[in-house]
This record gives sequence, structure tokens and C-alpha cells, in this order.
Amino acid sequence: MKKTLITTLILATIASTLWTLRDSRTAQALPQCPDTPPIVIDPGHGGIDGGTNVPGMLEKEVVLDIALRTKKYLDRYKVPVVLTRDTDTALGGNWDSGHLRRDLNQRIRIANHCRAGLMLSLHVNHTRNASERGMMIFYQPSRTGRDAAYLFDDILRRWPLHSRPEQPHPRKDFAVLKTKAPALLVELGFISNDQDRQLLADNAYRERLAQALSSGSAAIYQKWLKHGSP
Ligand SMILES: [Zn+2]
Repeated sequence: MKKTLITTLILATIASTLWTLRDSRTAQALPQCPDTPPIVIDPGHGGIDGGTNVPGMLEKEVVLDIALRTKKYLDRYKVPVVLTRDTDTALGGNWDSGHLRRDLNQRIRIANHCRAGLMLSLHVNHTRNASERGMMIFYQPSRTGRDAAYLFDDILRRWPLHSRPEQPHPRKDFAVLKTKAPALLVELGFISNDQDRQLLADNAYRERLAQALSSGSAAIYQKWLKHGSP
């Protein structure tokens, strides 16, 4: 009986070591962080994970392009920025059953590792109702998350972007919002809506969107630097 128990324990230890080794092999490297806490911009998906799509448009490409443009404007404001990805790559290592969990964990790890002042995750929406359109802002359900979201929303409304009647939404279940920093997830528009899709494909609109996103996040960041909260 004792022998069986010892054998089981040994086997369990070997299995857990192999599992850890396997996980560390697939874990991604962490980026270099700037001296001052940055805004972490997180273009969703990447690599093998295209996100939502319609013929001719992939979420992972739209959000990466807009993230890079947003960084360009934040550079002008001299706000330090770290991107969770700046190429078409997935962050979860090997494509297996644990990929998605590791991918999301890596995005959170990057924000925490660089002591982000703000985590801004960018996505594109999709729904069966083709008339549904507009941008949506989700926030970490905390006092700072809420304050950040409402300040961001207020600034974005000053820009000529597509209609957005809704207020920001708190979300407990979005993994990427579970950072130490206040975190926002912005759905930039609906790929399933003709007008939104045309806007998201348009260069001038992407540029305007990036300007709006950068001024909204810079305002949160400045407030955070001054008061320790947005
Ligand atoms: Zn997405």
C-alpha cells in the first residue's frame, strides 16, 4: 500500500516537472521596459489567432495597424509605450489546448512586468445583427478602472468618430482586464456592419482613431502620474 503511494507521488512529481518544463518552453520572453511606467497597448490576437474576420479583413491586422499608429502619436506626447506585440505574432507559444490561456496571461504579464500606468487592449467586434455598430469601451470593475474609462470616453467623444451612444461597460470576466494597472478594452467597431467595416478599412479614419485613442490614453496617463490614479 505504502509502496503504491510512494510510486504515485514520484509519478506525480515527474508529471508536474514535465508540465512545468513544457510551460516554460512555451512561455514568451518579456520585453524591455522603459524607466518610467509606460502605457501598454495590446493589439488583440496575432499569428495563428486572427480574431474575428470577414473576407478581406482580419481583426489581428486592423488592431495591430491602429496600435502602431496610436504609439506614433503617444511618442509625440513623449509618453512611454510598450506594445504587447508589434508584429503578426501570437503570444501563447505552441498552438495547443493551453494556447489561449498562455496568450492572455502573457499580455497581463507584460503590463505588470513594465509597471504599466494604463493597459489599453484593442479589438474589433462581430455580431450576427448587421445593423449593430459603433465603438465599445470595457473597463476593469474597480474605482480606477471606472474613472479611467469615463475620462477616456469623454475625450473620445470630442473626436469625429462613428456614433457611440453607450457608456463604458464594467467587465469582470475579460482576462486581459486583470492587470495591476487600470485596464480598458476597446472594441473599435463592428466588422459585421458595412459602415463600420468601411471606416475601419479607411486610412484617414484609422489615423483619426489613433489620434483619439492616444489623446484619451495620454490624459489618463498624465492624471495617473500626477495623482497616482486616473
Ligand atoms: Zn478580439
